[in-house]
Amino acid sequence: MDNGPKTRELESGMTSPDPESSERLRAVRARIARAAAGAGRGGAEVSLLAASKTFGEAAVRALADAGQRAFGENYLQEALEKQSALRDLPLEWHFIGPIQSNKTRAIAENFSWVHSVDRLKVAERLSAQRPIGMPPLQVCIEVNVSGEASKGGVVPAELPALAEAVAKLPNIRLRGLMAIPAPVRDAAAQRAAFRPVRKAYDALIARGFALDTLSMGMSADLEAAILEGATIVRIGTALFGERTKHA
Ligand SMILES: *Cc1c(COP(=O)(O)O)cnc(C)c1O
Repeated sequence: MDNGPKTRELESGMTSPDPESSERLRAVRARIARAAAGAGRGGAEVSLLAASKTFGEAAVRALADAGQRAFGENYLQEALEKQSALRDLPLEWHFIGPIQSNKTRAIAENFSWVHSVDRLKVAERLSAQRPIGMPPLQVCIEVNVSGEASKGGVVPAELPALAEAVAKLPNIRLRGLMAIPAPVRDAAAQRAAFRPVRKAYDALIARGFALDTLSMGMSADLEAAILEGATIVRIGTALFGERTKHA
């Protein structure tokens, strides 16, 4: 991912960046840089993914004009509409929501990354349906470390076998793990929730998997996630404001 300065196309565009989007983006980047420095890591080791679910085309465009390039979406239909309206911008799209197997073809055709793979059937379909000529789909396996039966994600005990099978698929590149721990306010509890994800990630690397991505941390807990090794934080509210629609 590339969170670098905005491209020429954007600089020469007709719109000037909306001050509120620019300010929110600046503030989130500053939080990331501070947290990374506090963890003894370089700020460039942590990428910012803007989680834009429920926010419309105009909000995404405003943040893109301010310099953000990677956007994460949870709902396929909503994402496809935004992608089509924003085709003129050089954006990178990540799918971060639950995946129904009848939606895999459209996901394989329209996204660069998928963070929420949690079963082999979905990974097999994404690989088989990735169009010829496109680069491999960049994939994270979602792990469920909170032990909540209702939440998505593979349980840690089943992770190594799933990772092994996913890593063998031809049109997918397994990059790492994603997690959405149950929200807690206390910073120490936040870190404790991210730690098993980091441990599972380290264990896979120790078994020989070439992984480089830990997708964890949202608006309320990005500092804790970065202290525990996050390489992508997925930020919605702090970039776009409160969501008023379903989330
Ligand atoms: C909505 C969402 C986010 C962002 O959450 P905020 O708390 O608004 O920053 C991150 N990841 C996923 C999977 C989401 O659905």
